[in-house]
Order: sequence, then C-alpha cells, then structure tokens
Amino acid sequence: MTHVTRRRLFGAGLAAAGAALLGRDTPPRDSPNAPVTSPTPPPLLAPPPHPAPSPSPSPSLAPLSRPVFTLREYRQVVPGPDFPPDAVALTIDDGPHPAWTPQVLRLLERYGVPAMFCLIGNQILGHEGVARSIVAAGHQVANHTWSHPAGIATLPPDLVQQELDRAQEKIHDVTGHTPTIFRSPGGAVSPAVFAAAAKTGMIPVNWDTDPRDWTRPGTGAITDRLLKARPGDILLCHDGGGDRSQTCAALRTVIPALQARGLRFIALGAEA
Ligand SMILES: [Zn+2]
Repeated sequence: MTHVTRRRLFGAGLAAAGAALLGRDTPPRDSPNAPVTSPTPPPLLAPPPHPAPSPSPSPSLAPLSRPVFTLREYRQVVPGPDFPPDAVALTIDDGPHPAWTPQVLRLLERYGVPAMFCLIGNQILGHEGVARSIVAAGHQVANHTWSHPAGIATLPPDLVQQELDRAQEKIHDVTGHTPTIFRSPGGAVSPAVFAAAAKTGMIPVNWDTDPRDWTRPGTGAITDRLLKARPGDILLCHDGGGDRSQTCAALRTVIPALQARGLRFIALGAEA
C-alpha cells in the first residue's frame, strides 16, 4: 500500500453535474469520511436543497458534496483556462511559521515555483510579517481554519463556521487577500464543513499526493513519495506543526527533479 494516493479520472459529463472519479487507494490522513470506493462516485456539486434557499449575498457558493482532489476537478468547479497538461500544484499547510516558512519561500524563489500556503489563523498571531511575506513573494493563501481542530467533521455547524470565518478575517486583515480555497484539517469533511466553506465563498480542496511529511518519516521517504507526482496532481507538504527540516530537505531535491521531468508548478487560487 502506498501513501501516495492516486485517483484515476474517468472522462464523462462534467460541467455542473461534476466529475466521474474513481480509484482512491487510501483516504487522506485523519479523514473520518469514507473514501470514494463506488464505481460511480458522487458528483462534486451537491443536489440542490429543497426548498431552494433564498438568495444569499456574495460570495456564497453552491456547496460541494466532496472535496476537490486534482487539478482537473478544481477546474470543474472554478472557471478558468485549462491548466497546462504538465501542471502540478504544490500546497503547503499549517503555517505561517517563523523558521520554516522563510526557508520554504527561499527555496520556491530559487526555482521560480509558485505555491499555495494554507494558513492557520491562530498561527498568524505574532507572525503577521511571515504571512505577509508569503503574499509579497507572489504566492497564494488559503484558509486552513482558525485553530486546526482535528475533529472538525464532528463539530456543530456554528463552530465550523466560526473556525472558517475567524481565519478568513485574520488572513484578510493581515495579507489583504481573501482566500477562495479551504483546506480542511486532515482533509476531514462533513455537510457542515461543505456548507460553511460555500457560505464563506471557498472551494474545499484536498490533495492526491501526500508524502505524510508531518510524520517525519525521513527525508528519503518524503522525497520518494513526492517524486511519484504526476501531471494534474495536487501535492501536500507542511511548513508548520513541528520540525519541518525533512520537508525542506526533500523539497530541495524534489522541486528541481520534477521540473527536470517537465512538470510545471502552478498555484491554486491564482484566479482570485
Ligand atoms: Zn493542517
């Protein structure tokens, strides 16, 4: 069993009806939600509720029924030009961190790689300058909740909404950017998570290449798993939550190696 989860795309009727996806081998870490195992997985967009809700102010979106895992899925719900066929997206979670985030930023700058940083609201406290440096370097920021509750999928709707709203406000106040992407802690989701993300104007985005760097499995293990990335993948790494020296060391190898293979890094959320 591999830690690098892969999903195979089955073509077919996308648009508002959502994608036909199949083949997740392992669920995202910590996810209490059952993986998609049916040969006919549910569409990304949830069926409309009954009765139809009254119009709500922008930027509320229609809730999804499951997170986005790949670049192709992302494009199904976020309008924009097709990603290049050789694109991969690097996402970096749990910061900002005063030691590790600057290291990651220097590395990304060296190789000209844009990324999306999924920020925890309460980690910005005292590290506002680090958060601003991410945006100043041209990277994207996403909402990774206020306090990173491990059990977010079991929280009542009002507490989920508070987690998203408080982080959204802090990120906006500090960086001037309003995230359009929500990264749930551990990739965990629930109807309340989908509803809160939609109400806040965000798309829940998970990942499909997970080196589990947060477990500190060794630089080699992280490197090997990231090197399995394929075009269209969303990659997960961390710049917060502990000692991220293994992650930084792995990225020093992985980024130029993937570029040498012809993969092109893009940043999710750049449409906003
Ligand atoms: Zn996280």
